[in-house]
Amino acid sequence: MKVALFGAEGKVGSAIVTRLESAGYDVRGIELGDEPDVSGCNAAVDFTTPDAAPANVRAALEQGVSCVVGTTGWEPEELGGLAADNDLRLFVAPNFSIGAVLMMRFAREAAEHFPRAEIVELHNEAKKDAPSGTAKATADLIGGSPTVHSVRLPGLVAHQEVIFGGEGQLLTIRHDTTGRESFAEGVLLALGKLDELPPGLTVGLEALL
Ligand code: NAP
Repeated sequence: MKVALFGAEGKVGSAIVTRLESAGYDVRGIELGDEPDVSGCNAAVDFTTPDAAPANVRAALEQGVSCVVGTTGWEPEELGGLAADNDLRLFVAPNFSIGAVLMMRFAREAAEHFPRAEIVELHNEAKKDAPSGTAKATADLIGGSPTVHSVRLPGLVAHQEVIFGGEGQLLTIRHDTTGRESFAEGVLLALGKLDELPPGLTVGLEALL
């Protein structure tokens, strides 16, 4: 299968390309300044920037190619409509790490038993959006508009704590991404199940687990 990878030389792109190739995908890397040519590809993957992703996704959909997007900080709803109109799939996940998806699932369960929660998300200083897509998705899942604290420092990869407070007790649920290779498993899962999804927009790895 041929896959176009927008942002192949970025931090995530370069960490997942080898894993995609060893899984049997023929990867066409597309960088800033390249033509967004995805002709002949079975799917396009985007790990770029919030400014670049909408145009990349639009270009892929207009060429009849379904998309798997990890870029956060943009609104995919309108392009979900374009995908649906063309019988294509647009899969977007704020976090492709399976451990992070489990962290969100456990947080949702804990929220039923604690009156208050706050979220601390910690990322590399180069991350452009704050709060992170994962923190926003977690806040939506647990409800009650929890305060989100965003930390941006060199040395961090992607980390999140959900801290629940109750009378006389605290519960902390934490996930640490220590290497960006962890996102490859989620991308492979999404690529493998892309054709089984309904046309249009699907959000979140949990829809595939
Ligand atoms: P990064 O290191 O800055 O990489 C982005 C790459 O995209 C760079 O190589 C950049 O090129 C390239 N690029 C910029 N505009 C482009 C365009 N129009 N077409 C093709 N390539 C373009 O960022 P990153 O850490 O890899 O993260 C990328 C995105 O994924 C961010 O939004 C981040 O928040 C998100 N992310 C999501 C997950 C998840 O699991 N969903 C995990 C980690 C990160 P230049 O360097 O030349 O500008």
